Amino acid sequence: MQENDFLNANINSYLNCVHCGKCLPVCPTYNISLNEFYSPRGRVRLILTDNADTMPLGVSKVAEAMSTCLLCGRCVNICPNDVKIGDLIINEKIKLNKLNKLKNGTLFSLDKLALRTLKNKRKILLKSALKFANIPIIEFLSKRYAPKPEGKSFITDRDYKFKPEGKRVNKNNLKVGYFSGCVFNSIYPQISEDTVSALIKNGVSVYVPANQECCGLPFISSGDISSFKDLALNNVNAFKDKDTDYIITSCASCSYSINKLYPLYFNKNDGGYNDVLNFSKKLINIWSFFKIAEKMGMDIKIGELKNEVEAVFHIPCHLSNLSGFKPSSYNEGLIGEAGLIADKINGLKLKPLKHNYCCGNGGMFNIRHYDFSKGITRRKFEEIKEASPQSILTSCSGCMFSLSDQRGILKEKDTLPVNHLISIYAQSLKE
Ligand code: SF4
Ligand code: SF4
Repeated sequence: MQENDFLNANINSYLNCVHCGKCLPVCPTYNISLNEFYSPRGRVRLILTDNADTMPLGVSKVAEAMSTCLLCGRCVNICPNDVKIGDLIINEKIKLNKLNKLKNGTLFSLDKLALRTLKNKRKILLKSALKFANIPIIEFLSKRYAPKPEGKSFITDRDYKFKPEGKRVNKNNLKVGYFSGCVFNSIYPQISEDTVSALIKNGVSVYVPANQECCGLPFISSGDISSFKDLALNNVNAFKDKDTDYIITSCASCSYSINKLYPLYFNKNDGGYNDVLNFSKKLINIWSFFKIAEKMGMDIKIGELKNEVEAVFHIPCHLSNLSGFKPSSYNEGLIGEAGLIADKINGLKLKPLKHNYCCGNGGMFNIRHYDFSKGITRRKFEEIKEASPQSILTSCSGCMFSLSDQRGILKEKDTLPVNHLISIYAQSLKE
């Protein structure tokens, strides 16, 4: 392992752990298993002993503990001693991957296949793999859920500039770039269309470069730092020197990857370091953007739904913009910054969720540990059922996968539609 792989990550913060256990109740994998081996504290202990070369367990057991972490960050937010649990786990994964000990399955295993399809530039392989997985007999035999790709990919082979609609240009003439992420590009392209539509209807011009790819999160969460950095640099270059005030994403996991991990895993010795930092600073999620734009004087349009909808909003673990946020309405109190847009949709009624549990996706976790993941999703649906909504809204590609997989959780007649809040907003502006 090269030392500079995690020059900026606090690699010794495991020494801060005082075993207080505050992180246990918030960890989805501990909650489901009630086993310390799958807890933040247990994982930190394993990393500490591994680094001190006093590990009593085989390396495959350590790899299993790391591979079952969703990187949800819930433990990090609650730890009173600033133990960088997520970073420590990623570092350990990188180390195990370099030693070829992180079991990413055999050559033809699902997780390897998934990573290969995500690297494919135009995502043709990803779409073909999902179409194959949706053939009823394959779906039955694999006992896994695979989303159905909707229509053509959003990103094409040329750059696009979308002008603000009509004469209504906001006071600041805001210009943004749009980063779709691979899922909202090729599996749910409608969400990318809806994000752009909501922006241009509010007088914002939107630039969409062709040469953007996966944010890299599935790769770094598999310990593959080299692919992660390649993809990151590609994205940085796609938006470099373009006249944009912000770069917007509508996926919470892409925000986590770009805002948090890009600066952490690049360092001064890497080519393009300053560009990576600038890109990371410029990228914000769509909800933060509207909040900033409103403060700058944007008069955000109000939409109207034809039929009233009672929904719950699942807050993705990676939508971490809630700390220090002061809600100014009922919807903001429920769901943070996204509540600003929920407030602008006449006919949308949000119902509260008691705990805001994790949905169980965790990117590659859902693919590698499907049954474990499904156990966490099942718990999520307990609080959703209690709220008895007509639909589920969220703001992350991974959460959309897991929440759409309702087989064995809800009866077929009771299945609930899952959508992105930005799509409901875009729809309300058209109606
Ligand atoms: S909350 Fe922090 S200090 Fe306490 S057990 Fe968990 S990691 Fe250790
Ligand atoms: S990141 Fe999430 S899954 Fe991983 S140890 Fe922390 S709380 Fe548990």
